[in-house]
Amino acid sequence: GRIKRVRTDQGDIEAEYVVIATGCWSPRLAAMAGAFIPLTPAVHQMKDIGPVPFFADSKGDIEWPIIRDMDTNMYERQHGTGLEVGSYAHRPILYTPEDIPSNAVAALSPTEFPFTQVDFDLQDEHSLELMPSIIGDENVREKYAINGILSLTPDGMPILGETPEVKGLWSVAAVWVKEGPGTGKSVAEWMVLGESEIDLHSSDIARFHEHQKSTFHVKARTHEGFNKTYGIVHPNEQWSSNRNVRLSPFYDREKALGAQFYETAGWERPFWYSCNEHLLAKFGEKVMPRTSEWEARWWSPIINAEHLQMRESAGIVDLSAFAIFDVTGPSALAVVQKLAVRQMDVAVGRVVYTPILGINGGFKSDLTIMRLAQNHFRVVTGGAHGMADKKWFSDQLPADGSAHIVDLTSAYTTIGVWGPRARDILASITKDDLSAEGFTFSTCKMIECGPLRVLASRISYVGELGCELYIPIEQGAKLWDLIWEAGKKHEMIPVGIGVYGTTGRLEKSYRAYGNELETEYNVVEAGMQTAKIKDQEFIGKEAHLRHRAEKPVTTLCSLTVDDHTSSTGEKRYMLGKEPILTLDGGPIVDSHGRRSYVTSAGSAPSLGKHVLMTYLPTDLAVMGAKFLVEYLGEKYPVTVAGVGSAPLFDPTNERILS
Ligand SMILES: Cc1cc2nc3c(=O)[nH]c(=O)nc-3n(C[C@H](O)[C@H](O)[C@H](O)COP(=O)(O)OP(=O)(O)OC[C@H]3O[C@@H](n4cnc5c(N)ncnc54)[C@H](O)[C@@H]3O)c2cc1C
Repeated sequence: GRIKRVRTDQGDIEAEYVVIATGCWSPRLAAMAGAFIPLTPAVHQMKDIGPVPFFADSKGDIEWPIIRDMDTNMYERQHGTGLEVGSYAHRPILYTPEDIPSNAVAALSPTEFPFTQVDFDLQDEHSLELMPSIIGDENVREKYAINGILSLTPDGMPILGETPEVKGLWSVAAVWVKEGPGTGKSVAEWMVLGESEIDLHSSDIARFHEHQKSTFHVKARTHEGFNKTYGIVHPNEQWSSNRNVRLSPFYDREKALGAQFYETAGWERPFWYSCNEHLLAKFGEKVMPRTSEWEARWWSPIINAEHLQMRESAGIVDLSAFAIFDVTGPSALAVVQKLAVRQMDVAVGRVVYTPILGINGGFKSDLTIMRLAQNHFRVVTGGAHGMADKKWFSDQLPADGSAHIVDLTSAYTTIGVWGPRARDILASITKDDLSAEGFTFSTCKMIECGPLRVLASRISYVGELGCELYIPIEQGAKLWDLIWEAGKKHEMIPVGIGVYGTTGRLEKSYRAYGNELETEYNVVEAGMQTAKIKDQEFIGKEAHLRHRAEKPVTTLCSLTVDDHTSSTGEKRYMLGKEPILTLDGGPIVDSHGRRSYVTSAGSAPSLGKHVLMTYLPTDLAVMGAKFLVEYLGEKYPVTVAGVGSAPLFDPTNERILS
């Protein structure tokens, strides 16, 4: 649908664009138009105490630092002669948008519910313990206490952008006061110019999958997430609520193999398998064990053992979380051509890995597109960003209906088989030609595996010989079983996403959307430019041509950590997002004001190194250059081991092309 007008009690207002910025009421307004803004009103308790004798001479609102007490999930904030004490430690108290009264009928402010002291008893103790001389002063009185209402979202991020359901209807919801000005500026840029200066993908309303819009999901995740608002959350921490929503056809088999499941886009994905534990003895120190509890949390050395075994024999990988959609119709080529940087007018059976750009030449996505027929393209992209990609593609469809998008995410499942023995394994279950000449890299074709017809695509995100196999979801288990049986002779193991998403790709310097790739970086900076550029127009081409003509401001590099030893003697392993510093400890900032930080971090077991990806100002992006990485307050030496997209492992791609 498309927004046409807003109906008020004073009459209708014609409007091409409507922005819903009505806080916790937003879901109700969106629902009137058939759109979803998945947030829930949640209580945040705050007490205002004073006047506090200690602040008697304070004139301004904020003269003293705000205390953010991470151990108790609380803050203490001087406000004139008073002190505000707020908490994110109390039990989650959630409402529904329908519970929030209108201004007309609300006794207090409509977003203010009566204070429930019992939920704040412990917080009173904690704040007193922290500031006995200030709060414990016998003259201090409680001025006001509220159960105020915040908007919480299932992943803790704001909800910005045009709703996928209704054209012209925008959301600017779940925004805090402190983010208000920046959010206003960014959304205005997005609406008027087509893109904001700051990358907003993690707040994009188009990110939600269908099940993530359900009231159940929103309640479950906000209930769990409330206490994380101020908590110290591990970067790989998994949600425990509302799990097992999307299960692949292999789920029971994986469970029996001891899969440790992580969730993405609602899918349960094996991260590693305990059945591979015996490989730890085989590979010994090569699995790069971690002794520090923080880095060993949400991680297992089995990931690195799976990695090494896959590089020796083969691994089977569950890729069910891919988002898959077909673009069909007479204008299908024109649509994908307009979106993709790479040439899409290729032979049927070609697989094209391509950046997808925004108008300023930064990354909107990176994904693969298979040409299945003259007017039929299959787009395969990561689950987490899949729905936003689908909206971006849908936005480019011609108005005359000459191209369509069909979402096949829940219709197809995908299995990856990779490793030096992958060809032998697959050749034993198909008569189709899988030879190096008969099935070349970056091509796809239908093959028969026993009773199944399978779409095989010869690509790899782990840098090994092998392919992705696409099959209707109800036939997935049968395909798994065929491969499993065939793999026994070849020491094939189940391999988790820990290898697929981190160790395998980092050794090959493969970029990941949302880590290295976002709108704030361009193709040349990411080292992904091709020698030639296609003649056809595509979104972002003008900017891309400019970027190609200029010297890049920054260049994506791979660093290796030279020494992991901390001041206590324990070896520490960075997890991502850490600052990269000069040797004298100074920050590194490029001429566009972007700081160098770790975009991805992880083991490279084949190299025996811990690898960090980072953008460095181009003059500093030199092989062998030395820097520091700051991790939990200490600095560790690192060396540039790769500049641009040159792989650290198998740099000539012999394995993948064999
Ligand atoms: C106790 C407490 C302390 C907080 N402290 C901080 C802090 O320190 N820092 C910080 O950044 N944030 C803080 N917040 C969060 C912050 O207050 C909110 O995130 C922010 O107010 C949200 O702004 P908003 O404009 O999106 O929504 P709101 O402030 O809720 O405004 C929404 C407006 O929409 C109007 N509206 C609703 N329906 C309609 C309709 N149909 N038509 C027209 N208008 C409509 C409402 O009347 C309301 O005025 C705190 C919140 C609480 C409860």
